[in-house]
Amino acid sequence: MEASILAQREKLSVHLIKQLGLRRMAASYCATAQEAKEELLKLIPNPASVIRCGSESAARVGLWDAIRALPGVTLMDPYAPGLTPAESLEVRRQGLLADVLVASANALTLDGRLVNLDGTSNRVAGMLFGPRKVLLLVGMNKVVADLEAAYARIRSIAAPANNIRLAGIGLKNPCIEDGRCHNCRSETRICNSWVVTEGSSVKDRIHVVLVGEDLGY
Ligand code: SF4
Repeated sequence: MEASILAQREKLSVHLIKQLGLRRMAASYCATAQEAKEELLKLIPNPASVIRCGSESAARVGLWDAIRALPGVTLMDPYAPGLTPAESLEVRRQGLLADVLVASANALTLDGRLVNLDGTSNRVAGMLFGPRKVLLLVGMNKVVADLEAAYARIRSIAAPANNIRLAGIGLKNPCIEDGRCHNCRSETRICNSWVVTEGSSVKDRIHVVLVGEDLGY
């Protein structure tokens, strides 16, 4: 990544951390994905149960294996090999009472709002209530001007890209064919719940780790 882009993102992160703070959310900035992973691991208490949510950002940096290896920490993993769909759903259900939820966010506005679109919706449900701590790994490539830009970014980039990534599990959605959203009514649609987080009633329950490098989509 170009040094000037990284420098711009570091400067912008000061503003974003302040905006999130005004909304009673904690935040920190790391220049690289590797540093962000270490930062996030330090935020997980010991002992703790941690629910894994769908996050390409976390997978990219090997976060799940690192959490699994933490002493005193139990990773609740609905993506564990060998689980039946019913078993995976049950892990997601139980995860709503985990100590810590780890995920990413689909977009972050300049005034500090988190915007997410979810399929099964356990990810956004847990962000709203349940887990005592919500840790979000968010690449600065997901920072957008405002809510309209967030919706546009998610519809035009994140949702079709996630569909293409998940095509192997049997999704039959039109965006998989041409890479653009048709606002479909498909049975396998993964765009089911929009959530805009305007703030946190429990101060610092949500902690956003901003990453200077591009991470996820
Ligand atoms: S609404 Fe349908 S077409 Fe649009 S991104 Fe979601 S699954 Fe794809």
